[in-house]
Amino acid sequence: METDEPETLGVAAVAAARYLTAGEVVALPAETVYGLAANAFDPVAVAKIFAVKERPDFDPLIVHVRNLEAVREIAMIPSEIEDVVLKLANAFWPGPLTLLLPKKPVIPDSVTSGLPTVAVRVPSHAVFRRVLKECRLPLAAPSANRFGRISPTTASAVVKELGGRIPLVLDGGACGEGVESTILRITRPPGSPKPVLEVVRAGPVTRELLKQFGIVKKGSREPRPDAPGQLQSHYAPTTPLRLLAEGEGFSPQPGKTYGLLSVDGEPGRLNLSDFAMVAVLSPGSGKLSEAAIRLFALLRQLDEAGLDEIIAESVAEQGVGVAIMDRLRKAAGRGGNGND
Ligand code: AMP
Ligand code: MG
Repeated sequence: METDEPETLGVAAVAAARYLTAGEVVALPAETVYGLAANAFDPVAVAKIFAVKERPDFDPLIVHVRNLEAVREIAMIPSEIEDVVLKLANAFWPGPLTLLLPKKPVIPDSVTSGLPTVAVRVPSHAVFRRVLKECRLPLAAPSANRFGRISPTTASAVVKELGGRIPLVLDGGACGEGVESTILRITRPPGSPKPVLEVVRAGPVTRELLKQFGIVKKGSREPRPDAPGQLQSHYAPTTPLRLLAEGEGFSPQPGKTYGLLSVDGEPGRLNLSDFAMVAVLSPGSGKLSEAAIRLFALLRQLDEAGLDEIIAESVAEQGVGVAIMDRLRKAAGRGGNGND
């Protein structure tokens, strides 16, 4: 599917909207990763998302809508945080920022896993926006992978994950951000001069970008009773992954094959000849944004290469590097503050 060709995009979006209106699930590109979408008003359609992904029902979904007006149809914006919500919406929507807001009764409990809040965002990807416009429904859409696996950032990765389980995968090319949205819980404790922004999941909207809007707090790494879904081992390749600390060396065991997920391809303390495959996160610009875009596709390639172990270098924990490290810790089975 050519997404830069409006007629074709329109035809595909109309087809996707028809499936969605009829209660089916379809895979769509977002600027973050590919999503598996269903009508968020329809509990039967939402149940299909959980079934197709084999996702446990205690892991709530993010609902995607066209604009702030549509947010107000499904969520309440409490008066004490309205000011900051409007500022954040103005600064980051459409885009990869998800807000947790008190849900309205129109959203079925299965979408929020029984929580009183709903996770909402306004996506910026042209294909996703076109589908939202065609179907005029809020779309619940988690990443289009089987539960606990690496999120897909291309249509072919979706087909590998879910092919045969869903009627349509809309190909919109590679995703422009590459990691899942930043999730924020906003509160204004009595007497606090500024709102508190708790980063429940690190993503493309970084702490640096958020700090002008309030006091930015890191989300808890412990699962909390009011936020199920903060599960520990996710984004997991089937090949074991070891995350090296900055500057840590590596010695191979004889007879084993290793792959390296390198930040910039500069060997540093590592010996490149120890690795059967070397994948470089940021070969061109050296920037973390490039690393984020390439992260999941490279993890997939390494996972498919039949290696005994994947060795990953740490990236700098600044900007979107915080989100990358969160996903790498998850891939290594060591938790983080995000999830599938
Ligand atoms: P995904 O859609 O797979 O990118 O992940 C959605 C994640 O958003 C869930 O796994 C939760 O961690 C988080 N989430 C969604 N809704 C809520 C909510 N109401 N409260 C807290 N976290 C939520
Ligand atoms: Mg996911």
